[in-house]
Amino acid sequence: MQQVDIGILGATGMVGQRFLELLANHPWFNVTWLAASDRSSGKPYGEAVRWKLSTPLPERYAAMPLSPAVPDEHTPRVIFAALDTDIALELEPRFANAGCAVISNSAAFRMEAHTPLVIPEVNEGHLSMVRHQSWADGGYVVTNPNCSAIGLVLALKPLEATFGIESLFVTTMQAISGAGYPGVASLDILGNVVPFIRNEEEKMVAETAKLLGGVSDAGESLPLALRMTAHCNRVAVEDGHTESVSIKLRKPATAEQILECWQQFRPLSGRGLPSAPEQPVEYLHAEDRPQPRLDRMRGGGMASVVGRLRPCTLLDWKFTVLSHNTIRGAAGAALLNAELLHQQGRLVPDRAARGAR
Ligand code: NAP
Repeated sequence: MQQVDIGILGATGMVGQRFLELLANHPWFNVTWLAASDRSSGKPYGEAVRWKLSTPLPERYAAMPLSPAVPDEHTPRVIFAALDTDIALELEPRFANAGCAVISNSAAFRMEAHTPLVIPEVNEGHLSMVRHQSWADGGYVVTNPNCSAIGLVLALKPLEATFGIESLFVTTMQAISGAGYPGVASLDILGNVVPFIRNEEEKMVAETAKLLGGVSDAGESLPLALRMTAHCNRVAVEDGHTESVSIKLRKPATAEQILECWQQFRPLSGRGLPSAPEQPVEYLHAEDRPQPRLDRMRGGGMASVVGRLRPCTLLDWKFTVLSHNTIRGAAGAALLNAELLHQQGRLVPDRAARGAR
């Protein structure tokens, strides 16, 4: 199979670095173009980046020049975007209007009508919204969710499908890498918990309802009607968001039935998507797991790791969810969306088929 050329916008950031790590030996995709801010433009990537991952920076990326973040004749047709939301609001439309597929991590367009917000195991069908987008030259935007919504919704999807969800109470303990680099000042986070992450609680609620909902014939989101509240906290953990979840179901369920639901949930099994984990919701039976340091890399960092299922005296059941925020919560999520689009034969925009996607 001929590899697809990929560009990365925001290549020097925390998520951009994960993209390069995950794409270094990818069988379908080949990174040919990197861009970041004007501060970095023109420099070799290895000079501009503060490489923060424990794996070494691949040699061939170190020497690649950072291009200006402007679409031109050298820009690949497929762009993985890892930009802050305010910058994404300005730049993602420029690339979509230049006929690029923008596979975005930011919140800028997630809640727009006709913008798919997708987790392949959860709502693959939402990709049909793209048909209703009106960027020039066949360009389009597909998004993945916020890093705390994604692990949660993977664990919720099989429960919603089997029992229905009436209400949900979630408290997050989110890693500092979720705030990008340099993120939260060490004097603010060391030995501390910060009980505020701007807009995060609102995003979790809105995105959960969109992800678990449907799509109208006009390509608009039909959010799931569920009662949900979220408390979001920043904690002194490097990578991996942990969430305490209490849930009320519409139909009664036993612990065995819930565990069976998670075990059986393998919607991408046999599809051959390189980044899809074997077991998207992995349940750990030990009484004190999951823990971020020990369990965040399960499924190559792509699993939602669940544990501590027990009765809840307020709602029906409670459990703990852990997911890797820069892999399943960001770069890995976008990569899996792109793999799914590629398998469906519609990743690279078809300029000729404009308006008839
Ligand atoms: P980050 O570490 O702050 O990186 C931001 C990137 O954007 C850098 O490459 C930066 O380049 C580039 N940039 C800044 N200003 C720019 C401009 N004017 N034009 C072009 N590029 C510009 O942020 P991050 O953590 O990687 O997050 C990126 C996006 O992903 C955000 O929207 C975030 O909310 C989302 N996200 C992050 C996580 C996570 O766990 N970190 C999870 C899910 C989603 P320079 O190096 O040149 O400044």
